[in-house]
Amino acid sequence: MTETLSLLSAAVRDVHDFPKPGILFKDITPILSDGHLFRLAVDCFVDANAGKKIDKIVGIDARGFLFGAAAAYRMGVGFIPIRKKGKLPFETEAVTYSLEYGQSVVEMHVDAIRPGEQVVLIDDLLATGGTAAAAACLIAKLGGTLLEAQFLIELEFLAGRKALGPVPTRSFLKY
Ligand code: AMP
Repeated sequence: MTETLSLLSAAVRDVHDFPKPGILFKDITPILSDGHLFRLAVDCFVDANAGKKIDKIVGIDARGFLFGAAAAYRMGVGFIPIRKKGKLPFETEAVTYSLEYGQSVVEMHVDAIRPGEQVVLIDDLLATGGTAAAAACLIAKLGGTLLEAQFLIELEFLAGRKALGPVPTRSFLKY
């Protein structure tokens, strides 16, 4: 592990039994609150995308906005938010996906991506992959080409990459 990844990994705070019993929550707020660490984390994404022709960064509600928007700013490309149902004001495309119990819906504005645009998807953490797979589906519905799905953290034991199927997937901190 590089020094950067060791520093970031050491800052991730494990919170037991949040938001419900049995879940070990990976809290990234100690990274956000430290200017040096926040920059290192954003630079992981920026460096991973160096040399690629990217039109848009797509970030997933809500922590994907923090890293995705900062990376898009550094890269000089547009940022597109994927939000939970009912939060976006304009006409939306929606995808419903399964959670452990029940279903959830993610939405994106219909004009957020033009057909043929090359996009990168960013979120803080890949767990089961359900959310990211729904996001990938939304991008495909709008005609975008998803170059890669990128996460600061991956919980490998939950096999989220499988849910993403053929989408190239990259993570920086693996647990
Ligand atoms: P999933 O759809 O199961 O891959 O869940 C991914 C989303 O849920 C991401 O947006 C994460 O922010 C959040 N998430 C899931 N599990 C955890 C966890 N153990 N710690 C922190 N965030 C999590």
